[in-house]
Amino acid sequence: MSETKGIKRVGIMGGTFDPIHYGHLVTAEETRGRFNLDKVIFVPSGKPPHKKGYTVTDARHRYLMTLLAVATNRFFEVSRIEIDRQGYSYTVDTVNQFYQQLPEGTEIYFITGADAIMEILTWKNIEELLGRTRFIAATRPGIELEHMKLVLKELPFSAMEMIYPQEVPAMAISSTDIRMRVREKRSIKYLLPEAVEHYIYKNRLYHDE
Ligand code: ATP
Ligand code: MG
Repeated sequence: MSETKGIKRVGIMGGTFDPIHYGHLVTAEETRGRFNLDKVIFVPSGKPPHKKGYTVTDARHRYLMTLLAVATNRFFEVSRIEIDRQGYSYTVDTVNQFYQQLPEGTEIYFITGADAIMEILTWKNIEELLGRTRFIAATRPGIELEHMKLVLKELPFSAMEMIYPQEVPAMAISSTDIRMRVREKRSIKYLLPEAVEHYIYKNRLYHDE
């Protein structure tokens, strides 16, 4: 395992990434710095169980946009682990698969926004996951860190020990807003990497929703 020797701490950043934007990227980068991560692996979801309200863009597009977005950071990678899996993807299955693939002893830090962590109770086998994985709950405009802590305290198990709140520079950016802007022909410049912006226009994503 010489090629992976030395890697001890790996961040996993899951998301729909429809499209990926600077909110995701700054969250991953801040977490990498604070926890001294050797790398962060972005994991675009396959068919997300938590996005039933709208039709998620083809995984091929979301994967390619994520690749474009991480190209300028040597610590960032993209994994197809969820895209290539059949059916719905659950975080617990994904993290367990990474534990199998990564060298023994690797510590996994699962990076989420504060809104996502509060859905934690709805996740499959969450207690098993909390037993050995650290969760990073990043601040996000609209979600108060204090409110999040209160919600987590209500959990029937001791989640707080494994969940690390993380302040990131406030980015009031969401994929939902970006999709809406494209549909309304408003600018999305400076909200996401330029390569991703060009990809969206070239492939006419989000125009006719
Ligand atoms: P959508 O509006 O479609 O839900 P999103 O912007 O929330 O998209 P997701 O792909 O759902 O993006 O998010 C992936 C992860 O990134 C989640 O854990 C989410 O909480 C986090 N995240 C998204 N945007 C931000 C942001 N601006 N600041 C901090 N965390 C974010
Ligand atoms: Mg979201």
